[in-house]
Amino acid sequence: MIMIYYEVLCYSCRQLFRVYEGSLNYKLFKENRTKFFCCEDCSHKIRIDAIKNFFRYLN
Ligand SMILES: [Zn+2]
Repeated sequence: MIMIYYEVLCYSCRQLFRVYEGSLNYKLFKENRTKFFCCEDCSHKIRIDAIKNFFRYLN
């Protein structure tokens, strides 16, 4: 099976990463909907930070 992917630049860590066919990023890239892509590591970090900030706000 051939995996189709594009290499895109993460806006956060500036590393190239692959977006595979079927993923949301792939769809966005193909439709040229956004120029800002975030790799999985960064989107994970961003999610954790958002949760931390949320709890900081509560306290
Ligand atoms: Zn990144």
